[in-house]
Amino acid sequence: MTARLLDGVAMGRAIRQEVAQDVARLAQVGIKPGLAVVLVGEDPASQVYVRSKGKACEEAGMHSVTIRLPATTTQAELLATIDKLNADPAIHGMLVQLPLPKAMNSEQVLRRIDPRKDVDGFHPENVGKLVTGDPTAFRPATPYGVQQMLIRSGVETKGAHAVIIGRSNIVGKPMANLLIQQGPGGDATVTVCHSRTRDLPAIARQADILIAAIGKAEFVTADMVRPGAVVIDVGINRVDDPTKEKGYRLCGDVAFEPVAAIASAITPVPGGVGPMTIAMLLKNTLQAAELTRAG
Ligand code: NAD
Repeated sequence: MTARLLDGVAMGRAIRQEVAQDVARLAQVGIKPGLAVVLVGEDPASQVYVRSKGKACEEAGMHSVTIRLPATTTQAELLATIDKLNADPAIHGMLVQLPLPKAMNSEQVLRRIDPRKDVDGFHPENVGKLVTGDPTAFRPATPYGVQQMLIRSGVETKGAHAVIIGRSNIVGKPMANLLIQQGPGGDATVTVCHSRTRDLPAIARQADILIAAIGKAEFVTADMVRPGAVVIDVGINRVDDPTKEKGYRLCGDVAFEPVAAIASAITPVPGGVGPMTIAMLLKNTLQAAELTRAG
């Protein structure tokens, strides 16, 4: 392996410590940032994410509430839960863990969250603010975490060609919007590839910074990567592996070994973008709490 490993665990820990210091500072003026996470149903991966979000919150000195609702919950019941959290002064930030059960209308749910508490940044008001470069936007935690990784690792985005594979509202689109803004971690030239892109490998090979957010195990192979590129792997995929106790292993959207042999820097899975996502969620919750202080 020749690539530098971008360590999301260490970087995420550093950010969480910074947040904890700010939480202690807010405590002096009587504010304890509070995050509510709503989980509907029993998706095993979501259960893990929700648990780690709650734990990270408490470790940073924040107030944490997890609301677990059965898969049989109606749309109206979920909306009523959101209304209650919108009105709760102890809750500064909230998120509804996605994906929601298929019968639910996710759009309507996301729009019901008070934009001032929308720490996931999925409400159209925050999406609009992100696109227009308004600094009060809540930036979606995963792409925000990727941007922080690039900044803190000294990867120059200004003038770089960043190629993003994936166009979801959660990762690909906000990632593109962050990288084209002016300022640190921005000023990049961005190309977004997706499932209808013609000759994706040829475009990926033009990237100085290649970001994979596809959800397909080891999709990005070495022939899609320009030697010396920085490769960020957002994917988290479960692959059957009978040699493991759980019967599966986690891997990213990038074929790690062969790509690490030619890239200049790469994120591992696990231990890359994942821990950054949680750190940025805490940062957003802190931002929401500070907003209430500002009035
Ligand atoms: P998604 O399924 O909503 O979107 C996947 C995108 O990949 C789509 O836009 C689609 O156009 C594109 N795509 C699919 N097949 C393709 C193909 N053959 N060629 C080109 N493009 C293709 O997924 P998502 O929510 O954006 O998540 C992507 C991955 O990132 C998943 O593995 C998910 O688990 C992971 N993820 C990780 C974190 C984290 O904290 N690390 C957070 C969110 C998502």
